[in-house]
Amino acid sequence: LRIGEPTGFAAYNPPVRELDLLNHIYSRNAGLPSRVTIPPGDDMGAITIGGASVLVTVDQVADGVHFDLATTPLAKVARKAVTRNLSDVAAMGAVPVAAVVAGCLPRGFGEAKANALFDAMRAVAMSYDCPLIGGDISMWDHPLLLTVTVLAETAGVEPVLRRGAKVGDNICVTGTLGGSMETLDDPPDYVHHLDFEPRLNVARKLAGDAMLRPHCMLDLSDGLGKDLPRLCAAASKPEPRPAGRGPSVGVELWIDRLPISRGAHRAAQRDGRPPWQHALGDGEDYELCFTIPREIADRFPTVIEGVPVTQIGRIVAADDDAAITLRMPDGSVQPMGEYGWEHHD
Ligand SMILES: [Mg+2]
Repeated sequence: LRIGEPTGFAAYNPPVRELDLLNHIYSRNAGLPSRVTIPPGDDMGAITIGGASVLVTVDQVADGVHFDLATTPLAKVARKAVTRNLSDVAAMGAVPVAAVVAGCLPRGFGEAKANALFDAMRAVAMSYDCPLIGGDISMWDHPLLLTVTVLAETAGVEPVLRRGAKVGDNICVTGTLGGSMETLDDPPDYVHHLDFEPRLNVARKLAGDAMLRPHCMLDLSDGLGKDLPRLCAAASKPEPRPAGRGPSVGVELWIDRLPISRGAHRAAQRDGRPPWQHALGDGEDYELCFTIPREIADRFPTVIEGVPVTQIGRIVAADDDAAITLRMPDGSVQPMGEYGWEHHD
């Protein structure tokens, strides 16, 4: 591909696979200036500015991709645009400082709705002590698109990276998993992917307590089925792996220990698949996933800052592509790859 010449979109087949594109980007991290302390590949990047570490993340929400404007109140759109980023701040154990937003509004969106949308984003951000301090607005002939960037500080706690899982670690998650698109009655009209609470307080407690501090952490945006392979891949860096080999660590996942959400049960009733498949594959959980040394597993708290913490599996040595195996309730073990979640984005 020669990027100096116009090529037209029709020339770009096959389509972009997100994971492949990210791996392409991460493979070029070598040679970054020393002020880059966390390079591309984590939930936030970090740079040193004037001797202080500043973390940054950016996320988009688009009508028709991350929400449906026809059926979603503007207040919930505004909330998700901000809280998706705050979930990444939580994944580092960091503290949000400020945000900027770029919005592309569909022509004809209307002044009243635009004002209400930005008022709501400002209010949500302020409620997390993360003021909106600037941005940019355009009009276009496409659906609503909001891009939010959040800056964060370490505030005396070293960020917890994705890298660092060790063979023998136990894997933990906060909250419950699956069914994030389902509308629940209690609280009224609760839809997890719009209304979730970013786990900032739990993460801060974990990262800042020497007895609790995880080896590694990320937030579950695409579901365990896709995010656990990322944890494994990050653990295997920086040592180069022979071509065609998978990560050097894998996961044994204990299916009967998964904390199943009410939404996952509801989705299971609807489509007849078992709830655990929803817990692995639905995505948009925005819960923390982290690993802890096995020595502290027995006395690790089951509730932190009022949020349940569940141990769902173990990091194991892996020597091929089948990085994730499922230990089923009947004791049998099977590769997760058969369900099609591994290595697909
Ligand atoms: Mg993330």
